Amino acid sequence: MKITLRKAAEVMKVSVEEVRKMESMANSMCNCTACSTYRNVFKKGKDDYYIAYCFITNGKSMKITDEKQCICPNCPVFAKFKFTKTFYCTRGSELQQLGKISTT
Ligand code: SF4
Ligand code: SF4
Repeated sequence: MKITLRKAAEVMKVSVEEVRKMESMANSMCNCTACSTYRNVFKKGKDDYYIAYCFITNGKSMKITDEKQCICPNCPVFAKFKFTKTFYCTRGSELQQLGKISTT
């Protein structure tokens, strides 16, 4: 479930442009496509509509429901933002799991 850049900027107290840059960085560094939870749903050559589920603008996948393994703790985005949760694709972004923004 995605939220808008404007809403994300309000929550993070940064500019829309800064959110856009962070989102782009997270998308480019995301390791989800190597994860068995992801690959169980999206077979070779097929990918989700969006990725970097941990990031505030993204959140849960609309397709992934079964949790197998989560490799987020090994991802550079996870380290960069000092994230603490896992299974963002099924449970929502870091801020959603922390209850800081709505999951719907
Ligand atoms: S922490 Fe997980 S969801 Fe976030 S960018 Fe990395 S692999 Fe993707
Ligand atoms: S959020 Fe975690 S469990 Fe979901 S696809 Fe990414 S690495 Fe796998």
